[in-house]
Amino acid sequence: MSDVLAGLYAIVGPKGLLTDQSEMAAYAIDWRKLFPGKPLAVARPSTTAEVSAVMAFCHHHGVAVVPQGGNTGMAGGAVPDASGRELVLSLARMNHVRGIDQVGMTLEAESGVVLQTAQDAALAVNRLLPISLAAEGSATIGGVISTNAGGVNVLRYGMTRSMVLGLEVVLPDGLVVDGLRQLRKDNAGYDWKQIFIGTEGTLGIVTAAVLRLMPRPTQRVTALVSVPDPQAALDFLVLAQDNLGDTISAFELISGFSIGLVHEHFGLSCPVSAGEWYVLIEAGATISGLREAVETVFEKALGQGCVLDGAIAESVQQASDLWMLRERITESEAKESKSVKHDVSIPIPSIPQFLIDAGQALERHANGTRVNCFGHLGDGNLHYNVLIAGHDAKDINRIVHDVVDRFGGSISAEHGIGQYRVDELALRRSEPEQVLARMIKTAIDPVGLMNPGKILSRREFR
Ligand SMILES: Cc1cc2nc3c(=O)[nH]c(=O)nc-3n(C[C@H](O)[C@H](O)[C@H](O)COP(=O)(O)OP(=O)(O)OC[C@H]3O[C@@H](n4cnc5c(N)ncnc54)[C@H](O)[C@@H]3O)c2cc1C
Repeated sequence: MSDVLAGLYAIVGPKGLLTDQSEMAAYAIDWRKLFPGKPLAVARPSTTAEVSAVMAFCHHHGVAVVPQGGNTGMAGGAVPDASGRELVLSLARMNHVRGIDQVGMTLEAESGVVLQTAQDAALAVNRLLPISLAAEGSATIGGVISTNAGGVNVLRYGMTRSMVLGLEVVLPDGLVVDGLRQLRKDNAGYDWKQIFIGTEGTLGIVTAAVLRLMPRPTQRVTALVSVPDPQAALDFLVLAQDNLGDTISAFELISGFSIGLVHEHFGLSCPVSAGEWYVLIEAGATISGLREAVETVFEKALGQGCVLDGAIAESVQQASDLWMLRERITESEAKESKSVKHDVSIPIPSIPQFLIDAGQALERHANGTRVNCFGHLGDGNLHYNVLIAGHDAKDINRIVHDVVDRFGGSISAEHGIGQYRVDELALRRSEPEQVLARMIKTAIDPVGLMNPGKILSRREFR
């Protein structure tokens, strides 16, 4: 064992260090299997003090550190390069929910707590942790904070950032910064926690967080409707906003192609007559009358012609079946084909035109391109995934992102940059924005040991 490994072993003990290639295999490659890496080792500390000691040790020895939570990220941010010199720091053993305050509506958890475990802990005291995404059975609190994850409830509750009240982080040199405050109002100085949210482990390690909880809706109505086109989906959104207000928590656009994939690979059938596009809508409230309100919107939408057909779930099981059609899309796509994924934000009124323009641009590049498009229409966020075999991913990225730029959109709405979009980000962000990003990175991680090559290119920081 080398001196570095012996030093790490002395800090985290036998349960906290993996060096065997077969044991490290799951930590070495990302969920999409696009970025195979080779870790120096995998450290699995179980306390903040151990994380701090590992970071101080790595800082002293010049070892780069790649934080990893559930490794469900879509941008290759949680895996090391192939050099065999980067340490993966897994937070999986820091998995305790430290406490819940029912009246203050907060939950404090260590960063390795699985999102679903935290959701269940909140439900146990009749509160809701509204961060929700298809990977919630594996994604961790540290991971969703470090990617500022979105998911299906952003329309009503905002991104993960809006749920974070306090953070504990360990800086690249091992310094522990404890900001685990439960306060809803706190304007005392810089709100430093914001720079660790969504920065994908490039500035420090998130070890624990205090999250805001919400009242748990006692009624929930879930419906799937078919719509003639994306503009009709937006007309339906306006009707829903006018009549249901902020009870709408999810408004998901799903293409007929996506529904077909889920049917093909998971045998799930759609209860609504076939359409080119579908909308999955969910509303929740703590007062009565919600179902009647949704039915009224539905009738108005049918009358206006923006909805063709629809089904409102009659039971919890039916609601879950409708959600399965949405949640299985990503896995169905992975079974169908390799794809070039785009996670874009577009100003909401421009989405129908974006879809036309992007489709035409791709068609000019290659005939018959298949696109798996679905996403969080109410947030202006589309997953626009081009199923390809043999085409250059960089060309496809460039074509789609050029159209995104024309509409003033963003090339990453919620999945982050990781290593997947580093080059594209450098092309799309203005020079002053890039200068500012480098200033922040250099101030906190001057040696460039935190998650090298993620968000910012490796050339600039190693
Ligand atoms: C089927 C599926 C559906 C998904 N749906 C959505 C969705 O709807 N919305 C959405 O936003 N995302 C979605 N994702 C992406 C992914 O689940 C999220 O990005 C999630 O937040 C990642 O959490 P994780 O614990 O797996 O993080 P990881 O993948 O382990 O890490 C993600 C990034 O955060 C860093 N990181 C992890 N933990 C820490 C820590 N404690 N401190 C510092 N840095 C850390 C890593 O270095 C990496 O850069 C989906 C993924 C899958 C597989």
